[in-house]
Amino acid sequence: LIGTVLAVQANYCQVRLNPSSLAPHRSSLLCTRRARLKKLGQQVMVGDRVEIVEPDWAGGRGAIAGVLPRKSQLDRPPIANAEQILLVFALAEPPLEPYQLSRFLVKAESTGLGVRLCFNKSDLLTLEQQQQWRDRLQQWGYQPVFISIRDGIGISEVRDLLKLRISAVAGPSGVGKSSLINALIPTVHLRTNEVSGKLSRGRHTTRHVELFTLPDGGLLADTPGFNQPDLTCHPHELANYFPEARQRLAQQSCQFSDCLHRNEPNCAVRGDWERYEHYLAFLEEAIAYQEQINQQADPE
Ligand code: GDP
Ligand code: ZN
Repeated sequence: LIGTVLAVQANYCQVRLNPSSLAPHRSSLLCTRRARLKKLGQQVMVGDRVEIVEPDWAGGRGAIAGVLPRKSQLDRPPIANAEQILLVFALAEPPLEPYQLSRFLVKAESTGLGVRLCFNKSDLLTLEQQQQWRDRLQQWGYQPVFISIRDGIGISEVRDLLKLRISAVAGPSGVGKSSLINALIPTVHLRTNEVSGKLSRGRHTTRHVELFTLPDGGLLADTPGFNQPDLTCHPHELANYFPEARQRLAQQSCQFSDCLHRNEPNCAVRGDWERYEHYLAFLEEAIAYQEQINQQADPE
């Protein structure tokens, strides 16, 4: 019996059974973890595909006996087998800040998962203004989906992106992430900022992650605490998280294999592209972080 973990609590995991699994009148079971898993130090995360034994169909209970190998793993928040990150930004209210957007994009790229971008509140911009953002993001190497949850525009396009996959939603607060999840899944109702105010939501104050089941297959994780991501990657890897730099490096190598693309001679990355400035700023941040790590590892 195989299922996918939707939520993890202290003692129980909610597991959605695979359609192919024999499951009379049950689509999910509340499962405990076998002691053997704990002994092996085997963590169970949302998104994990697990083997369930001893199903108690009447009581809706079962036990997790094993975790199948993961295709991917996010650590903060912990999500297994996610295929992509859906970044949601608003075109206005709050205003779209290129630098902040870049930071989220780079952080998302650094996970190694696919990165999709969704621009909400298109109702607040003219078509011409939207086109400007479209062209700009094209230069950055992205094709954002433009949506308006208020006017019901573009939602089906987002639905197609999310079909049959595990995706993690991230983005600053106030851009419409809760509204989007509500629009995609009629059966959940997340409170939006308008109704409740940020602090009463609770989901931002806990580490709790939950996968929402989309009506046409696919699972969606909200990622609270991904609000202003720190760039903690290795300085030498940073350029790989910019499509513009990747493209340059695919055409030509830098003279030095350890080039940080600052002042080195014959650098293939340095040049006349908009986000090069962002690259330099993030590089300083990544270097500072690395130095801090090194100091902790080797205090004099
Ligand atoms: P979250 O913090 O990212 O989860 O954002 P919410 O879903 O709570 O939405 C924040 C605010 O944006 C709320 O007042 C929503 O009503 C509003 N909002 C959401 N989608 C749209 C949209 O497409 N257009 C406009 N104008 N406002 C929207
Ligand atoms: Zn270089």
